[in-house]
Amino acid sequence: MADQDEASADTLAQYKQKYGVTPALADHATLVKMIEDLFRDGLKTMVEPFPETDREFAKILDRLRGMSADQLREKLTESGWLLEPYGEDQMRCQECMYYLVHRRWCDLPELNLPAEPDWWCRLWRI
Ligand code: SF4
Repeated sequence: MADQDEASADTLAQYKQKYGVTPALADHATLVKMIEDLFRDGLKTMVEPFPETDREFAKILDRLRGMSADQLREKLTESGWLLEPYGEDQMRCQECMYYLVHRRWCDLPELNLPAEPDWWCRLWRI
């Protein structure tokens, strides 16, 4: 397994200044706020290409696995995260096999982040 990258010192300092904590140590509500703020500040994520094969899916997981919990922006970008349902079928976390409804949490180990039912990412699976 590749060594994990780390968030830059500047990025960590900005998180601490704004939230009092970095993503790795943030609680559920704070992580949700961090995610929403990143999108409010214009974050664009890699919604496409949607992984059509197990191999493509695994490649995205490999890249995510190399990221630390503090690399929130990078994780959201690589996973193609959105704060709304996606596509003609309006796919969303609520119906994804990785979604823990009661915890409002994405249980995919490579993400391991809070998620709202109407959010989505390109690792969506049923
Ligand atoms: S893998 Fe993506 S779509 Fe599925 S629960 Fe996690 S964030 Fe939502």
